[in-house]
Amino acid sequence: MLSDVEIRRQAHPQSIGKIADRLGISHDLLLPYGREMAKVNSGRLLKTKGKQGRLVLISATTPTAAGEGKTTTSIGLGQALSRLGESVCLALREPSLGPCLGMKGGATGGGYSQLLPADRINLHFTGDFHAITSANNLLSAVIDNHIYQGNKLNIDPRRVLWRRVCDMNDRSLRHIVLGLGGKLQGIPREGGFDITAASEVMAMLCLAESQADLQQRLDKTLVAFDYDEKPVYAGQLKVTGAMLALLRDALHPNLVQTLEGVPALVHGGPFANIAHGCNSLIATRTALHCADWAITEAGFGFDLGAEKFFDIKCRLGGVDPVVVVLVTTCRALKLHGGQQKKHLGEKDLSALRRGLVNLDKHIENVLKFNKQPVVALNSFSGDPVAEVALIEARCRELDVPFALSDHFARGGEGAIALAEQVKQIADSAEPYKPLYELDLPVEEKVRTICREIYGAHDVAFTKQAEKDLRQIEVLDLEDLPVCIAKAPGSLSDDPKLIGRPRDFDVTVRSIQINSGAGFLVVLTGDILRMPGLPKHPAAENWSLSEDGSIDGLH
Ligand code: ADP
Ligand code: MG
Repeated sequence: MLSDVEIRRQAHPQSIGKIADRLGISHDLLLPYGREMAKVNSGRLLKTKGKQGRLVLISATTPTAAGEGKTTTSIGLGQALSRLGESVCLALREPSLGPCLGMKGGATGGGYSQLLPADRINLHFTGDFHAITSANNLLSAVIDNHIYQGNKLNIDPRRVLWRRVCDMNDRSLRHIVLGLGGKLQGIPREGGFDITAASEVMAMLCLAESQADLQQRLDKTLVAFDYDEKPVYAGQLKVTGAMLALLRDALHPNLVQTLEGVPALVHGGPFANIAHGCNSLIATRTALHCADWAITEAGFGFDLGAEKFFDIKCRLGGVDPVVVVLVTTCRALKLHGGQQKKHLGEKDLSALRRGLVNLDKHIENVLKFNKQPVVALNSFSGDPVAEVALIEARCRELDVPFALSDHFARGGEGAIALAEQVKQIADSAEPYKPLYELDLPVEEKVRTICREIYGAHDVAFTKQAEKDLRQIEVLDLEDLPVCIAKAPGSLSDDPKLIGRPRDFDVTVRSIQINSGAGFLVVLTGDILRMPGLPKHPAAENWSLSEDGSIDGLH
């Protein structure tokens, strides 16, 4: 099979105007970025009469570090539905540059299920990450300047919560000292950088319904405490108008296409642990407005990304998927049955049989939201037939629809079986049920997720977490939904526990208040907001070809 880059080189992408035509988007609502990308003025578009498309959520069983193929499956399914004559629009996350250059590689699919132009989408795209970085860092600069210029708000420099961001994996920026060098260089204090995908501005942009809503969110963002323990909000620093101005174009979704010319809105890219992990609400609504089918992805496994998708995004945004596709792979299930990482390509039926419990639990979790799952086995070349048969048999036993999906090697054609399953189930969809009500005490919301979704026995709160709970009470923010950050490679908060862990206790170490985004970030384990680079970063394989394409970017 050809490499991703070779496949892209052979592609003949349509002009973005033609893609907009497929969605019935008038050209005066487009802000083109070259021939193959455009921003869509969704504010104006959503005021016109549109369709009421059906939403499909793509999630996964507990992933390996390489990812199990949610993005690739989303693209493949979109292409398959389009081949069946349906009108489709994808709504996906924008890649983060740091992980592209680090370990994970790009996030525009692979094989014959890719987004175009992949290089540009993975690199600087239409500048949304830059805009978010700038808006975030304007606030940082203004906070430090405020302290330097006399500190009228009485901000305690030891209690500035707002951190700087950059879109690079750079562990040495996690904890730094700012303002060194003497009287004219600022007031020294401890600070640090997060990656842009972890900025609260990213989460706000992705949950905002409109420009006005984003302005309100920016204003009420908690940034620090003063010496009297009183909260300081971003609005008090008087630059949220400028932040919104910097975000003007970033708020509009980006229209691109797949290898088979299916329209895709790629917009926003928050993490799925310390944030809610899916593309912008505006992009999802735009896709539903313009097509009969919208396909979207929630980050990591169902326990992390999809729980947040339902309990945060659906609750807030009034969207509700008709089907949940659970992507799994033979590799991932073997890993959860105890097979060693380096042997995942080898046949091992007994490891796979043991690992099926991971699939079972994720299926049970989908049902808890009153949703019907379809299992999509993302086919890798060389997957043993007996392993595929074993997974299919388990689904039959559980009465869950199953499709072997070969979209990576065969594009939309390879996902027709999956598309047919999705269409069939969609007709009998019922409204989703949130897992918890917002008026429960925060501890109980956390406990419900940990017990019901992760399978925990109980939850322990450290002293710090208890202090944070009291702070949340004082600020009257107990009604917010919770956004639990935990290890993505396990159903538990311990990355070493594979399969379907039972009888474990989750430890909550602290709770951060994201009052602008509108959720409480509950930190378990060692969750990083700034990734580091591996010994050999993916960047070592990159080079720029004569024709302008980038070799080594997968
Ligand atoms: P996720 O969205 O779940 O993180 P992706 O769809 O981005 O996963 O896939 C992760 C990586 O695995 C990508 O580099 C993709 O090209 C590759 N990949 C996905 N499916 C297959 C497959 N069936 N065969 C080979 N490589 C695949
Ligand atoms: Mg993905």
